[in-house]
Amino acid sequence: MTKVKTQSLHKRDSDLAKSNTQLEILSNGIFKSGELPTFKEKIAETSQFPLKAKQLEILQINVGYMCNQVCEHCHVDAGPR
Ligand code: SF4
Repeated sequence: MTKVKTQSLHKRDSDLAKSNTQLEILSNGIFKSGELPTFKEKIAETSQFPLKAKQLEILQINVGYMCNQVCEHCHVDAGPR
């Protein structure tokens, strides 16, 4: 089967589909060097830690990985396959 870009990372056997790989990249990349603040540090910097919602505006429920699209930015690596 051809591994085209319109498939999920998991379907393309990409290492980026593995949560351990994702965590390692995030832990040892730009956040480790201090180049960028972590999310927690940024929230603390703005005196909003612990983060609490002021009001409910959007409720999104992901019930699985099946989706009819394959957006490259997908945070759950969803797709039709
Ligand atoms: S970003 Fe949303 S629409 Fe796009 S593939 Fe992921 S779940 Fe589907």
